[in-house]
Amino acid sequence: MDDSVKVALRSIPSIHDLLADPAVEQWTSLLRPDVVTTVARRHQERVRDRVLNGDTESLDVLLSEISDELRYLAGGREVVGVNGTGVIIHTNLGRAPVSRATAEAMATHSARYQALEIDPISGQRGGRGQEVADLMRALTGAEATLVVNNNAAAVMLTLSALCLGREVVVSRGEAVEIGGGFRIPDVLQQSGATLVEVGTTNRTYVRDYEAATGDATAAYLKVHASNFAILGFTAAPGVADLAPVAHNHGVRLIEDVGSGCLLDTSKYGLSEEPTLGDSIAAGADVVCASGDKLLGGPQAGLILGRQEVVQEIARHPMARALRADKATLAGLAATLRHYLRGTAEEEIPVWWSMSRSTEWLRNRVLSWKSQLGVDGLEVIETESVVGGGSLPGRTLPSYALAFRPSGGSMDGIARRLRTGSPAVFPRIVDDRVAIDARTVLEDEDKLVVSAVRNLFEARP
Ligand SMILES: *Cc1c(COP(=O)(O)O)cnc(C)c1O
Repeated sequence: MDDSVKVALRSIPSIHDLLADPAVEQWTSLLRPDVVTTVARRHQERVRDRVLNGDTESLDVLLSEISDELRYLAGGREVVGVNGTGVIIHTNLGRAPVSRATAEAMATHSARYQALEIDPISGQRGGRGQEVADLMRALTGAEATLVVNNNAAAVMLTLSALCLGREVVVSRGEAVEIGGGFRIPDVLQQSGATLVEVGTTNRTYVRDYEAATGDATAAYLKVHASNFAILGFTAAPGVADLAPVAHNHGVRLIEDVGSGCLLDTSKYGLSEEPTLGDSIAAGADVVCASGDKLLGGPQAGLILGRQEVVQEIARHPMARALRADKATLAGLAATLRHYLRGTAEEEIPVWWSMSRSTEWLRNRVLSWKSQLGVDGLEVIETESVVGGGSLPGRTLPSYALAFRPSGGSMDGIARRLRTGSPAVFPRIVDDRVAIDARTVLEDEDKLVVSAVRNLFEARP
């Protein structure tokens, strides 16, 4: 053994010394002593292994590594931050933030007992999820709604319950990957159904569906192109075109709309995203959607449609495995009430962000700049996107506060903003770090100003 390794091995502190060091000792008031000891021992053993492999420098970071892990276990790491990226539904930042009323409903229902499966009037067992179904019916005309964990679960359950061992007809242009390993052909296979692809990538007609329909056909599946757009020479029948054909042949028409939109997006200069009500009115038997995309609520999957079909899905054993929890149901109900009251654009964060005017956003950035009063800040025009697999290729004009890094790399500045307190997730526009005003929530102006001030004050 190398002499330097021997010396290093001997200088690894004992557990006793590690626990007595102020860097470790400071956590003993916040964590149980056995937890602190276990963490210290694990790091001590790891350093011993590293030293034996010739990495004698790992000794220098032993104390800081232990302290970092203890801080993390004690809950001292900032995990919420301001979204300055300009992506409204940002999957990596948790998708849709919910309204205040929704967050309160979720907290209250989590912390207390409630009439989840009891009818308060009769005292008899009542339907779980009935409130969401009633609200959805008022908003979309759907006879019934079943709530599950997410839209991937909604699609999977729907296909398993309605199409096992039978054929499902899908247009070639819609046998797509939605992201994160959710591929329509694979989902169909897992559900025990056989995919029958029809038409071509860019053009599919009603007659293609009809020609593929036989005794084994269980359903036609329409999948909304949420995260890409095919432009130019294209054709695809809509739900309204397919519904009569499907029903003539005794075949179910299932639509995966993705975003769960309940309002008209075209008034913000965006292309029209089909609403849940449009799909139901056009004759879909079942519509599947996410709760935390354009709906702007908690993570959930919604299965809406005709009573008899939704009941058939709800009876499948997997429905019990995928069902939504009480907090989600309470949160969804609170979110849906914003739409019923006509206050979605003021109360639901994703719609609040989408509905801000460029004039308002420009004034907001000007106000940040004047509050900060430091040199090197610019107000730039930029473009936000809806994101989260909604409205691909469409942008919303916006404004951002931007600056060039002085004495640091762009990535370095972005990292300091992300890891600062308050934390801000910026975006990089050309050679500047920018904070897009559209995705900063209503009550977060102070946080932005304080994060940028911290950054400028820390500069040499
Ligand atoms: C987003 C999306 C899904 C998956 O929804 P999750 O709620 O993320 O599970 C499925 N289909 C379409 C068309 C989507 O846009």
